[in-house]
Amino acid sequence: MLNQLRDIVEHVSRVEDIYQALEVFVERTCDAINSECCTIYLSNHQKQRLELMATKGLTFSGKQLHIGFNEGLVGLVHRTAKPLNVAQASIHPDYKFFPQLGEDVYQAFLATPIVYRKRILGVVVIQQKKTRLFSDTEESFLVTLAAQLAVLIASEQQQGNWLLQERKISVVSGLSACNGIAIGPIWQGNYEPSLSDVAPASVIDIERDKEWLLVAVESALKEFRRLRKQLDSDLNKDALAIFDLFTHLLNDPKLRGDLIQQIEKGDTADWALRQVIERYSARFGRMTDVYLQQRAQDVRELGQRLLYFLYHSQSQEIQLDKPVIFVVNELTTTLLASVPRDKLLGVISLQGGVNSHAAILSRALGIPSVIGPNLKNIDADDRHIILDGYSGEVLLDPTEQEMVEYQKLQDEELEVRSMVESELYLPAVTVDKTPITILLNTGLGPDDSYFYFNLVDGVGLYRTEISFILKQAFPSEDEQVEIYRKVLACSAGKPVVMRTLDIGGDKSLPYFPMEEENPFLGWRGIRFTLDHPDIFLIQIRAMMRAAIAQKSELKVLLPMISGVPELDSALALIAQAYHEVALTHPRVKKPQVGIMLEVPSMIYLLPVIADRIDFVSVGTNDLTQYLLAVDRNNSQVSELYEVVHPSVLLALKQIQGACEHANIPVSVCGELAGDPIGVLLLLGLGFTQLSMNSANVANIKYVIRQSNLKELEELASQAITKPYASNVYELAFDYLEGRGLAGFVRPGKH
Ligand code: PEP
Ligand code: MG
Repeated sequence: MLNQLRDIVEHVSRVEDIYQALEVFVERTCDAINSECCTIYLSNHQKQRLELMATKGLTFSGKQLHIGFNEGLVGLVHRTAKPLNVAQASIHPDYKFFPQLGEDVYQAFLATPIVYRKRILGVVVIQQKKTRLFSDTEESFLVTLAAQLAVLIASEQQQGNWLLQERKISVVSGLSACNGIAIGPIWQGNYEPSLSDVAPASVIDIERDKEWLLVAVESALKEFRRLRKQLDSDLNKDALAIFDLFTHLLNDPKLRGDLIQQIEKGDTADWALRQVIERYSARFGRMTDVYLQQRAQDVRELGQRLLYFLYHSQSQEIQLDKPVIFVVNELTTTLLASVPRDKLLGVISLQGGVNSHAAILSRALGIPSVIGPNLKNIDADDRHIILDGYSGEVLLDPTEQEMVEYQKLQDEELEVRSMVESELYLPAVTVDKTPITILLNTGLGPDDSYFYFNLVDGVGLYRTEISFILKQAFPSEDEQVEIYRKVLACSAGKPVVMRTLDIGGDKSLPYFPMEEENPFLGWRGIRFTLDHPDIFLIQIRAMMRAAIAQKSELKVLLPMISGVPELDSALALIAQAYHEVALTHPRVKKPQVGIMLEVPSMIYLLPVIADRIDFVSVGTNDLTQYLLAVDRNNSQVSELYEVVHPSVLLALKQIQGACEHANIPVSVCGELAGDPIGVLLLLGLGFTQLSMNSANVANIKYVIRQSNLKELEELASQAITKPYASNVYELAFDYLEGRGLAGFVRPGKH
C-alpha cells in the first residue's frame, strides 16, 4: 500500500494544473483500491455546500453539482468530520439520491473528510457496486491520501485559487497588527524595477558598486534559500528546481567574475548587471538544445530578481502621489521606512507575525495594519477597500452601507484621539493617586518620538539596530557617537536606556548575512556581540562618548541574556570600554547597566544577578515567544501567541516579586506595556514603569488616569487564576468597558 500511496502522490505532484491533478488523483485512487468510483468534493463555506470537483465513475456530465452541507452521506461526513464506511449506502438513514449523478449502481460507500489545520476543505468518496464493507487498511489508506490531498488543495487556495464554482471574495481575514481603520485605494508596491529600463551609467566609486552588487547577490541567495525551504513541504517539486538553478548560477564564480569585471570596466552595478545578464541569456537562446534554450528565460528572471535586491539593499524613498493602503508580501522595517508616513493609510502584510519588528514599527507609527490575509492573485491595485485593524478584516468590495458605517467609526476614532490628546500633558496618575512612570520605546524607525520626550519620563528602550540596518557596513565609532548624541540631546535631560545591538532573529544586516535553521534560537543579541567584541566595544565606547557632557543620563541595556556567563562577559567588556574612553575623555561616566528579561531562564536567576545589575527591563515580546514556544513572526501559529496567556502573567508576577525583593528597579518595554489590556494587568501585578511606542502614550496615560490601582490588584489576582488567555482578556476588557474605555480596544463595533 505504501508504494501505491507514493505512486499516487508522485503522479499527482507531476501535473502542474491543479484540476488535472485532481483528475489524476481520482483515477489512480480507483486503481489502487480496486474500486469503480472515486469523487472529490470541495467545501464552499460561503454557500454552505460541497461542490463536485473531480470524479471517476459517476456519470455526471453537467457543469455544476453541489450537495448541501446537510444533505446525504457526503454532507454527513462533512458535518461529523469523520470517515464513513457503509456496506449498502441506499439503506442508510442519511442517504439521499441525486438522480443527476448516476450513483444508484453503487452500494459500498467509503468517504473521509479532507482536513487541513482543523479546516474541512472537502470530502473524498470511494464507491463500489458490490455490497461490502471496506477493510480497515482501505479506510486508513484513504485517510492518508486525503491528508496529502489537503496539503495540495490548501496550498492552491493559499495562492488565491479557491477551486470553487462560484466564490465572490468580499471579506478576507488576517490578524490585527495595529488598531485603527483605513479606507482607501490598495497599492501593491509595484515599484519593482525592470532590467530593460536600466540605462547606461558610469560608475563613480568602483569599490562601492562592487560591494553593492555583492550584497545584492548575498541577499538574493538568502531569499532563494528561504523560498526553497518554504516550498519544500509542497508537493510540487518542480517549483523548487528554479531556486536550485538560481542558487547554482549565483554561486558560479564565472558569473560573479563577469559582473565584477563589468563594473571594473567603468559601469555602475545595475548597468553591469543588465549587460552581463543579456549576454548570458543570448548565449542560452542560441543553443540548439531546446531545454537549454529555455534557460535563457530563467537567466533573465534571475537578473530581474538581482536587480530587485540591488535596488532594495539601499533604502530608497518610494514616490507616491496619493495616500494608499500598502500591500506587501512581507513587511520589513526597511520597506516601511521607505514609504512617506503621510502617504500610508494602512498596511496589509501577506506574511509575517504580529510581533515582528516591522509590525511593532507599524504600531509605533500608528498605522492600521493587518497581517496574513489571503489576498494573493487578487488584482487589487487602486481598488477602494476598508482595512479594519481592530478585527484584522479587509473588506474588498465594501457596500455603501459598510462605507458609511466605517466612516462613522473612523470619525469616532478621531474624536477619541483628540480627546485623549487634549489631556496628553496631564500626569499618569491612577485615581487612587499612584504615579506611574511612562517611558518611550524608540529607535526602530522614523517615528515622531522626539516630540514626546517632554511628555514622558525618559526613554525606556532605544533600539540601536536600525542605524545598523540602514547602512552599507557597520557604522564607525564616530558615526555612532553622532547618532546617540542626538538621542541624548533630545531627551530633555531625562534618562535614556540604550540597548546594545540586537540583531539576528528577524533583523539581519544586509552586509552581514546570517543563515540559521532557527534564527530566534540562534545567534542573536548578546550572543552575536559577545562573539564580536570589536563591534560591541565600538558601540559601548560610542554610547559613553556620546553621553559626555549631556544632561541626560545614559543607561546600557543588554538584550537576550540567557545566563550569568554572558552577563559577566558583557560587564567585563563594558568595564574595558570605560577604561579605554577614560584614557582620552576623563569626564566619561560609568553608565548603569541592566538586562532585558526576555529569555525565561533569567527569571530564576534574578536573585543571583541582583548585585551585578542596576535595572531590569522586561521584554514581553520575546518572553512570550520563548515561554510559549511560539515564533513571534510566524502567521501560522499567531493564534497561539497569547500576550495575556496565564503563564506569561505568572512569569511577570514572579519577575516583579523577585525584583522588588532584591531591590532592582524594573520596567516593562514589550508591546504589552503599550496595550490598554496589558497595562491594567501590569499595574495590577505591581509594575509601575512602562515603556511604550509614542503612538500609545496618550491612550495609556488616559487609561491609567481612569484606573484604580487597588481594583487592578484585585483584577490581576483574579486573572492569574484563569485557565485561558481569553478569560483573562475578558476580565480586563470588562474593566475597561466599565470605565467607558472599551473604544481603546475596539471602537463602536461589537
Ligand atoms: C521584547 O522582546 O519585548 C523587546 C522589547 O525587544 P524586541 O521587540 O526588540 O525584541
Ligand atoms: Mg526582544
